[in-house]
Amino acid sequence: MLTKAVIDHLQQKVGIGNVYHEREDLLVYGYDATPETRGLPDVAVFPVNVEGIKAALAVCREEGLSVTPRGAATGISGGSAPVKGGMALGLTRMNRIIEIDEENLTATAEAGVITVDLFNAVASRGLFYPPDPGSQNVSTLGGNIAENAGGLRGLKYGVTRNYVMALSGLLYDGTEFFTGGKCVKDVAGYSLRDLLVAAKGPSGSSPRRLSA
Ligand SMILES: Cc1cc2nc3c(=O)[nH]c(=O)nc-3n(C[C@H](O)[C@H](O)[C@H](O)COP(=O)(O)OP(=O)(O)OC[C@H]3O[C@@H](n4cnc5c(N)ncnc54)[C@H](O)[C@@H]3O)c2cc1C
Repeated sequence: MLTKAVIDHLQQKVGIGNVYHEREDLLVYGYDATPETRGLPDVAVFPVNVEGIKAALAVCREEGLSVTPRGAATGISGGSAPVKGGMALGLTRMNRIIEIDEENLTATAEAGVITVDLFNAVASRGLFYPPDPGSQNVSTLGGNIAENAGGLRGLKYGVTRNYVMALSGLLYDGTEFFTGGKCVKDVAGYSLRDLLVAAKGPSGSSPRRLSA
């Protein structure tokens, strides 16, 4: 149970409408699409920028809270269910497509962009973003990356991993990281990007998994 002072601090840093702490609000952030996997966060926070994520993680460290990132919660490997309580860190309000670079054939987007929104944005320019999980109308790019999602088009074009060129993010200790880049011939050092893609468990390769 977080104190009012902590909640006030979070609301001040992340925005009053982006922090939920009443039990009736928290219940909906306690599960994803995985059967029988449930938790109850102590707080649910929806930052709208990187500074907000940093502030939220700082509170987790100070209060000793675990943190569970959350996209659209369509995952079927239980990853966004906060089974240890703590903070549900929703990324759905970071949903800007920052750039579509037609010369390099790359797009730069925030984690909370809905998969089909990226597809439509590039399609309007005559381009094609292939990964098409069955959940694409609601799933987020962040969740797609963490689960290495792929749909029927994956048979011909590959899955999310094949379309991630670079990632940036934050570690629990607040360290910001960047890995990869727009250049295809990015060969120096370990490919941390490939460690992060699919890091959150097996992708639900088919809705059939829901009943497995
Ligand atoms: C009806 C249905 C159909 C589906 N069809 C498919 C399919 O065809 N192919 C397929 O591969 N999957 C499918 N899935 C599974 C699911 O949709 C995918 O795994 C999807 O990629 C999850 O995205 P999400 O935004 O809902 O992520 P969430 O479920 O919210 O999160 C999934 C994991 O990613 C982590 N995460 C989310 N965002 C971030 C972030 N920004 N940073 C770090 N970690 C993050 C979460 O902690 C969690 O571990 C389906 C699910 C449903 C319910």
